Amino acid sequence: MPGFELFGDAERSELNDVLDNGVLMRYGFDGMRNGHWKARELESELEQQLQVKHAQLVSSGTAAVSVALASAGIGSGDEVIMPTFTFVASFEAIMMLGAIPVLVDIDDTLTLDPKKVKEAITSKTKAIMPVHMCGSMANLDALQDICKTHNLVLIEDSSQATGATYKNKPLGSIGDLGCLSLDFVKIITAGEGGAVLTNNEVYYRHADHYSDHGHDHIGNDRGAETHPFLGYNFRISELHAAVGLAQLRRLDDFVAIQKKNYTIIRDALSQIPQVTFRTVPKGGEESYSFLSFFLPDLDSARNVSKSFKEEGIDACFHYYDNSWHYIREWDHLKNIKSLYPISQEVKKGLEYLQTITFKQSDHYIARNISCLIKLSWTEEEVRLRAQKMVNCITKLIS
Ligand SMILES: *Cc1c(COP(=O)(O)O)cnc(C)c1O
Repeated sequence: MPGFELFGDAERSELNDVLDNGVLMRYGFDGMRNGHWKARELESELEQQLQVKHAQLVSSGTAAVSVALASAGIGSGDEVIMPTFTFVASFEAIMMLGAIPVLVDIDDTLTLDPKKVKEAITSKTKAIMPVHMCGSMANLDALQDICKTHNLVLIEDSSQATGATYKNKPLGSIGDLGCLSLDFVKIITAGEGGAVLTNNEVYYRHADHYSDHGHDHIGNDRGAETHPFLGYNFRISELHAAVGLAQLRRLDDFVAIQKKNYTIIRDALSQIPQVTFRTVPKGGEESYSFLSFFLPDLDSARNVSKSFKEEGIDACFHYYDNSWHYIREWDHLKNIKSLYPISQEVKKGLEYLQTITFKQSDHYIARNISCLIKLSWTEEEVRLRAQKMVNCITKLIS
């Protein structure tokens, strides 16, 4: 991560195809576009590469989560289980539909703990949404079993793990629905954009219509299309899709570079007995976009994080103190600071956030540091960085 480090001629060439004919919209204008359908092409390549029947591009990863939930019929008053450690978008996307985010502890995978998920299920629960944070994944077999037993929808948020696999299947293709982000800091970028992935024909049709005002997309006259249900505008533009297309074709190369850089740093940190690493579920292969490790306690993690900054070791995150990714600092969400009225049902559904403490999540996030793995580093830079990290850690904890 992130794809923005490496873009150039391939992205420019795809983009020029769009600019040359001037059709910036993904639907219609058949006569003007000289056969260029960048969004369609990107969807079809996503389907091939991520081994899924259908990909529906949308305007962002946040939109992808909302569209996925809506496509599965999840809305007002429904409960959706999500992890305490994620990006705020997971919470927002659920709230946007009037549904209720039910936060559940993570374990040493840094994703949903299946045992805690089971305990959180109520008669209102409709979906479980694991978030594959920082390039690795949740135990999808365990979560799939729970979904089957309780008749729930499994929605994977793989915004941070495009290119990772679980039991040889790409993340995002395993649940009933999967969500990707193509925003500027993700593994591959379109500037802004996202995708909903599914093997379910009905969910796909819903996602296709819902993300474009309910248009049924039958025939090539937009004015004559019918609208089976309410929808909104979560469309991606041809400009974004063009960039995303060039980036997707480089995904395998990006993952290979990340793996090489990740391995050098991991091997170096492995020499320190007090450093342990996040657990990757059996059968999982990371995208290597981050290296996540644990220190013995909160103080050592805080000190190491500070020392990394002082030594110029950038892009390492101690999420415990960070207001975008971990519930502890989400005061605006815990206190529901909303511009417009929120239903009493949702307010009541969120009251638990005022009193609950997520001790188990704290236990892991307090001690965790996740370092972004960049694509643009030379091998010499990676080795130097690894040595500096080892020096900082050994100085502070031994
Ligand atoms: C980035 C991200 C999103 C949202 O993606 P946007 O494209 O920025 O809206 C959702 N979930 C996770 C885990 C993310 O990292």
